[in-house]
Amino acid sequence: MIPIAKPYLTADEAKAAHDTILTGWITQGPRVAEFEEKFATYTGARFAVAVSNCTTALHLAMIAAGVKEGDEVICPSMSYIATANSIKYVGATPVFAEIDPANYNMDINDTEKKITAKTKAILIVHQIGMPADIDAFQALADKHGLVLIEDAACAAGSAYKGKKIGSHSSLVCFSFHPRKVISTGDGGMITTNNEAWYNRMKLLRQHGMSVNDRVRHESSKLIFEDHIEIGYNYRMTDIQAAVGIQQLAKLDWIVAERRKIAARYLDAFKDIDCIQLPVEAAGYFSNYQSFSVLLKPNCPVSRNEIMQKLLDLGVASRRGIMTTHRETAYKTAYANCHLPVSEAAADNSIILPLYIPMKEEDINTVIDLFRKIIERNL
Ligand SMILES: *Cc1c(COP(=O)(O)O)cnc(C)c1O
Repeated sequence: MIPIAKPYLTADEAKAAHDTILTGWITQGPRVAEFEEKFATYTGARFAVAVSNCTTALHLAMIAAGVKEGDEVICPSMSYIATANSIKYVGATPVFAEIDPANYNMDINDTEKKITAKTKAILIVHQIGMPADIDAFQALADKHGLVLIEDAACAAGSAYKGKKIGSHSSLVCFSFHPRKVISTGDGGMITTNNEAWYNRMKLLRQHGMSVNDRVRHESSKLIFEDHIEIGYNYRMTDIQAAVGIQQLAKLDWIVAERRKIAARYLDAFKDIDCIQLPVEAAGYFSNYQSFSVLLKPNCPVSRNEIMQKLLDLGVASRRGIMTTHRETAYKTAYANCHLPVSEAAADNSIILPLYIPMKEEDINTVIDLFRKIIERNL
């Protein structure tokens, strides 16, 4: 069976976790601080805050941005459900905008149409690693006095206009779930250039505690902590951070390898006119967290039939990005929400296997079988 994805983990990560466990300091401590410093340097952001996952990163970003009950935040419905959930956590309302089917990123014209007096922020998603047009969204946010937040869960190692994702705006949230390009088991990171937000998010991720464990531990003077506001336990552990440091050192190589496989698919399928392949415009650099193919209306085979045939032949595939407004948790409240472009893209896209290392013969098998199925030769 050719899997859809697998994390690239080696003896380096295992040794780092092992060594950290033996230090006796296993939750947020020196390894987390080191990982944050290295992640900030890698992305070019001033600060980074490590947290338990990208969903908690997005929640803290909403709080830092001042999003509250009664506010609206514009985001795509076509995203993993955690994107919209993070808006609900602060009592605000997700307002869904359409996507551009060329890259599944949020449609800026539809976003502008959905701005109201209640809008507080715009939450863009770099879909499956392909950057959104950050400058255009930042200009729109500035024009209307809104905060721009980036859901970069899938976009570690991607770049926009020559700079790594994480360096552009002041609230960028990453995931290190095993389905993303680098992993710490679970894990997340927020990068920011705003020092006040940085300090607030560090406080909130650890119960609102005025002094963190490490400072207290290293102090020669007696220190008592205070809890300044009601915070959360959104800490990353030092075991995870030790793994993350190893993964980060390999990130550029992992992305380069992923792009080679993506280039193979792009070349192999370029003449199939009933599918639309990912488009990487000038200035955009994708880490190809996923390789998604969109079936055009003239495609003779249905998406589910392709997926079933691939499965029968030992190749895993997945549906493309989901829509949030059609999930049970949202569909009653969003019964009047119609997003035909997002719905068609979600219903007709298919994600093909892409992971490191992927054997040459497995790449060829995926190419061969997908072609034959789509040309009705299988
Ligand atoms: C994976 C993902 C998330 C959630 O990340 P976790 O680390 O699992 O919480 C959020 N948004 C998007 C777009 C994702 O792909």
